[in-house]
Amino acid sequence: MRKTTLFLLLLVAAPVVGLCEGLTILLEFDSPVASGALTELKKESETVLKNTGLQLAWTLREDYDSSKSASDLVIVKFKGHCAMENYPALLDERGPLAWTYSSDGEMLPYSEVSCDKVRNSIRKAMHGGDYAVGDKLMGRAVGRVLAHELVHILSNSKQHGKEGVAKTALSPTNLIAESLKLDEADVLRISKKLK
Ligand SMILES: [Zn+2]
Repeated sequence: MRKTTLFLLLLVAAPVVGLCEGLTILLEFDSPVASGALTELKKESETVLKNTGLQLAWTLREDYDSSKSASDLVIVKFKGHCAMENYPALLDERGPLAWTYSSDGEMLPYSEVSCDKVRNSIRKAMHGGDYAVGDKLMGRAVGRVLAHELVHILSNSKQHGKEGVAKTALSPTNLIAESLKLDEADVLRISKKLK
């Protein structure tokens, strides 16, 4: 816990916005992630952010070499089980699917995603055959939620979009639909910050 706090403080000194041609996303999972979900999560985040021109690189917490510069790093902590197994439905559905920390009005490169809440949400939109590709849909949904948080970080703003991935709330159907784009207005918002 202490190590994480120190890491966070180092990152505060080196904000992400303005530095990006590429961004490294450090993924920290509470419990083992389904491999099908992990692959899809990365692919979906990249697809959503493709039009911004941003390149994403990925590393797991256990593989990360902390002696490297952290200036282009975003840490994402995944709480709960990032897999579509038969975990019981949540009794308490309140609260966001994910959130990003901020300090003095600046978005910090540190987000948390509740895999249990995401799974609970998408179950409402899943039917028969969807369960055969459950991990893939779970990864897709988490990838969209992560992309939403990255938009906050990259635009250094709590502002939401009118349509697409950056809108205020993503419905269960939005999360698993074949495609959910980043609205052009949000692409522009980010592209401006990246230069
Ligand atoms: Zn948001």
